[in-house]
Amino acid sequence: MIIFKTAATLTAFVNKAKTAGTTVGFVPTMGALHNGHISLIRQSKTENELTVCSIFVNPTQFNNPDDFKKYPITIETDINLLEQWGCDVLFLPAADEIYPPGYTSTPYDLGYLETVLEGEYRPGHFQGVCQVVDRLLTIVMPGRLYLGQKDFQQCMVLAKLVEMMKIDTSVIICPTLRETDGLAMSSRNTRLNDDERKLATKIYETLSLVKNEIKKGPLKELKEKAGTYLSSFGFKTDYVEIADASNLTLTDNWDGEKKLVVLIAAYLHDVRLIDNLILN
Ligand code: AMP
Repeated sequence: MIIFKTAATLTAFVNKAKTAGTTVGFVPTMGALHNGHISLIRQSKTENELTVCSIFVNPTQFNNPDDFKKYPITIETDINLLEQWGCDVLFLPAADEIYPPGYTSTPYDLGYLETVLEGEYRPGHFQGVCQVVDRLLTIVMPGRLYLGQKDFQQCMVLAKLVEMMKIDTSVIICPTLRETDGLAMSSRNTRLNDDERKLATKIYETLSLVKNEIKKGPLKELKEKAGTYLSSFGFKTDYVEIADASNLTLTDNWDGEKKLVVLIAAYLHDVRLIDNLILN
C-alpha cells in the first residue's frame, strides 16, 4: 500500500492511473477502522482496479468539541488492517492539506436534509461533512465513492453534494455491518464500557421492534413505544423516527406502500450512537 500525505502527490498519482484507464474507488473514513469500513474497501476492490482509502478526523464536522477530542485514533492498527485487506492507497493528510491557508467555503444548500434528524441535532455537522468530502473528491477524483448505509442521512447529503457540485463520481451505498448481537459496528463503540456495550444492543432491538410491528395507518404509537422502550434502559434519546426512505420525509401515517426507514440517535452516557433499518 502506498501512503500519501500530501494532496498534490496523490492527485498526480491518481491522474496518471486514470489516464492509463485504471478505475478508481474511494472510501473516505475517520479511521479507528473496523470491519464495517473494511467491507467498503472490499466492495471497492471488487469493482475497481485501484482502491483509495482516506483517514482524516475532520474537525469541521464535529459540533461537539469533546466528541472530537475523544474520537479514537488507532493509526498503526488501521494501516496494518488496510494492508491486510489489500487497499492500494492510503491518503493520510494533515489538516492543512485539506484546509490550506486561505481555504474558504460557501455554505452548501442542503435544504430540508439539514433541518431534520442529524441536521437538527448536530447543527453544522453536514456542512462540515460536505466541506471535507468536497475537498477529498477534488483531490482523489474517484469514479466511485463508497459510503455506508449506517450513516443513512449522510449518504443522502453526499448524493446531493455530488449532484449539486456536478462531481463525476457514482455514489455506492454499502450495507451496515453489525456485530453478532446486532450492534452496528462503529468507531465510537470502543468508547463504551462493558455494561454500556451490552446495553448498546438495545438500539438494534428497538429498530427490529419497529420493523416487526409496523403496519399501515398512524405510526405515532409505535414511535412512542419504541422511544419508551429505549429510554427504559437509560438511553438519552435524540430521536426515534420513521421516514420515507427515498427523501427522509418524516412519516406519521403509513400508506402501506412507501419504502420506510426507522432511524435512531441515542446517547449512552456521553457516547452518541446512531443506527437505522429499512422497514419494508
Ligand atoms: P467514519 O469513519 O465513521 O466516517 O465512516 C466511514 C465510512 O464507513 C462511512 O461511509 C460510514 O457510513 C461507513 N461505515 C461506518 N460504520 C459502518 C458499518 N457498521 N457498516 C458499513 N459501513 C460503515
